Amino acid sequence: MPVKGWCPGAWAPMMAEDGLILRIRPRDGRLTAAQTQGLAMLARAEGQARVGLTSRANLQMRGIKPERHAALLKRLAELGLLDADEATETARNIVVTPFWQENDGTLELAQALAEALPNFPRLPGKFGFAIDTGAEPALKGVSADIRLERHGTGLRVRADGAQTGEDVTLETAIPRMKDMAEWFLAQGGRRMRDLFPGQTAPVFTPPPGVCEAGTLVAFAFGEVPLETLAQLGEIRLTPWRMVLLPGVKTPPALPGMILNAADPSLRVFACTGAPNCAQGFAPTRPLAQTLAPHLPAGRTLHVSGCGKACAHPAPADYTLIAGPDGFTQNGQGLDPEALLRHPGLVFGTE
Ligand code: SF4
Repeated sequence: MPVKGWCPGAWAPMMAEDGLILRIRPRDGRLTAAQTQGLAMLARAEGQARVGLTSRANLQMRGIKPERHAALLKRLAELGLLDADEATETARNIVVTPFWQENDGTLELAQALAEALPNFPRLPGKFGFAIDTGAEPALKGVSADIRLERHGTGLRVRADGAQTGEDVTLETAIPRMKDMAEWFLAQGGRRMRDLFPGQTAPVFTPPPGVCEAGTLVAFAFGEVPLETLAQLGEIRLTPWRMVLLPGVKTPPALPGMILNAADPSLRVFACTGAPNCAQGFAPTRPLAQTLAPHLPAGRTLHVSGCGKACAHPAPADYTLIAGPDGFTQNGQGLDPEALLRHPGLVFGTE
């Protein structure tokens, strides 16, 4: 049944002004070429133009008609992109490093954890796991409560926020993660980090472009045009709202792909805004796209449909907030006509 509330899934979508929001959790954070193509066709059939990338390395569809939900689940199941039931989907909150390599054990560990989770104790809804066992750590700054990391030539299970963990093997890693989950519940916390205050991990966000594992591809507002999704081939999802094309060193030129870390679109944040969000006072993304080319180098811009600031809770260099009387910047009203003629006004450059 569709439900209201955050952290929607495919089984339990969230109702928004424009219809249902579904999040799809591909197993191990990867899709085959057949799955990307099939998902693009499926989304197109539902009237979509894009699929969103989330910070949990999931995919998001929105604006789905409630009466289409059951048929959509059936199609997702046929593509191998749906868990058996809602409880399994909710529990399988695992982020896997996209930089895993064949035979490094990462996939086996992620799959073993997914299989073991039904036997874990019932955990809070947002409680999650990170399998960060690539050659280099990549997920330290990504939200997760129990982490499996490399330590020297071995493995270590670590509670989020703790400076040290417990050394484990391929065989003992998952049982120790279960022990840690049980210990966490006995402490009565909501998130593991509550039990280890004061420790913050540096945020790591790799730049788009060719990297050792292939090519990282970003998209404006983290939304992949369907015609591009259909042609990407095999992809791995990342928690940085980018996709990794594994092993691809010469990426195809497809609409919407951003491979240049200096692209100003990567420094522009805009929520869904009106009319899709009921709280939105104005559309946000058209204005954000108009302003993006004029954004000074190294600066960030946030265009928000209301004061809730969903798209970028942290401060930005320039922030425009829509209200009942239009957009304001630093509490001052902005003339929408003047903005379109002189976008540099927002940045003090004209
Ligand atoms: S910031 Fe406001 S308008 Fe934008 S998505 Fe959040 S609630 Fe909706």
